[in-house]
Amino acid sequence: MHDRLKQDLTEFDAILDRARAMASDYLHGLPQRPAAADVLSPLPARMDLPGRGEGAQAVLQRFERDYAALLSGGPGPRYFGFVTGGGTPAALAADWLVSTYDQNAQRNGDTCAPAIEAQAVDMLRQLLGWPAHWTGACVTGATMANYVGVALARQWIGHQHGRDIAADGLLGLPSIPVYAGGAHSSTSKALSMAGLGRHALRSLPLLPGREALDVTALERALHEQGDIPSIVVASAGTVNTVDFDDLAAIADLKQRYRFWLHVDAAFGGVAAASEQRRHLMSGMEAADSVTVDAHKWLNVPYDCALLYTAHLPLQIEVFQNRSAYLPAPAVAEDNYLHLTPENSRRFRALPLWMSLLAYGREGYAELVERNCEAARYLGELIASDSRFRLAAPVRLNVVCFGLAGGDAAANAALHRALHQDGTAYLSPSTLEGQPILRAAICNWRTTRDDIELTFAALQRLAATLAK
Ligand SMILES: *Cc1c(COP(=O)(O)O)cnc(C)c1O
Repeated sequence: MHDRLKQDLTEFDAILDRARAMASDYLHGLPQRPAAADVLSPLPARMDLPGRGEGAQAVLQRFERDYAALLSGGPGPRYFGFVTGGGTPAALAADWLVSTYDQNAQRNGDTCAPAIEAQAVDMLRQLLGWPAHWTGACVTGATMANYVGVALARQWIGHQHGRDIAADGLLGLPSIPVYAGGAHSSTSKALSMAGLGRHALRSLPLLPGREALDVTALERALHEQGDIPSIVVASAGTVNTVDFDDLAAIADLKQRYRFWLHVDAAFGGVAAASEQRRHLMSGMEAADSVTVDAHKWLNVPYDCALLYTAHLPLQIEVFQNRSAYLPAPAVAEDNYLHLTPENSRRFRALPLWMSLLAYGREGYAELVERNCEAARYLGELIASDSRFRLAAPVRLNVVCFGLAGGDAAANAALHRALHQDGTAYLSPSTLEGQPILRAAICNWRTTRDDIELTFAALQRLAATLAK
């Protein structure tokens, strides 16, 4: 054994203690440190590989010295950019153990990992009130879950044409229409990866002043298309204004038209953890496949998302992976290597499993309601100050706003100033062609005080910029 490896084997506990101390510093420092790092000048993309290594303790020290200050405060209580969750204590502790245990979570027989994954998938299904016959599997993120959903839709459409696309490919088939309203950009990426092509996506009109699909436009499109099977990608929570497509009305169309319904509920789906919000997704049970992220509103560390489906056999057709040493899948399969794009897989269900057991229905309902209340409150503060313009009603946990009368440059300046100030981090976006700032509130640690601190910083910076 190389002497550095031998040294680290004897120092194992000291190495873990050092990592624990670094984690503790970071976690306790989150409310005080800048909400996001400001990495202006590019960091070196190259580093000389040492001949004789430094050993783990020295490398931990090196990282802390050179880079720890350049980490984003993403898991902190005032990081409101994009749609960013934190990690609950149970999920974080579990995530440490995931790397320690280093299980290959693909098949039953030599580890409990797939059983824990099945339990986590089922507990989340219960939390969100989804049908008992749905099955699910963990993947790395909603983009990958959307890809799996599209791949299942593709296989279903093949069957409608009497073709096994997983076996024989797409060549020679007519192109597959994909309808959506305000679909997330990852849908296009999924269509590209699945070989259906980004141009297969036909974006339909939205309801006036909304980000939700105009279902009458969908019906018209389905009617005009004739009896060709298609895919409908519905949104259960758009990124800007957290608008929901009318799933019940879309589901009704399934009586008359042949389409696969995939619902992207990456973060909006989690609103169903609160009984009061579940009506936003009525009709969900008609979905053929559904995406939900664990690393956003469920506050599980990156990376984890789930794809649920009512069509397990199709999933096995697409993702099965047989070889001399990998047995053929059975139909009631829980061998995840036959269900997802990955072969070797991280034990990524454990943080979700521990977090769901640690906080239960009540904990998650409280998190959802507290975040929505924080967003409502921030919206109210913004609307009460004439320097700002609320760009959309606060539907759930995201606030879209800008400077009143501010052009793109003024809003960009406010975004930049807040980033440098560090009190909170918001991301820029556009809504109806207008530049806006977005505050997406998804973190388990966020309180009313964080909203007041954020608003005070916005007021201070707006006043400075106006000078
Ligand atoms: C974030 C998001 C995605 C992409 O999710 P990743 O986990 O980043 O891959 C897809 N759809 C919606 C609605 C999202 O909010």
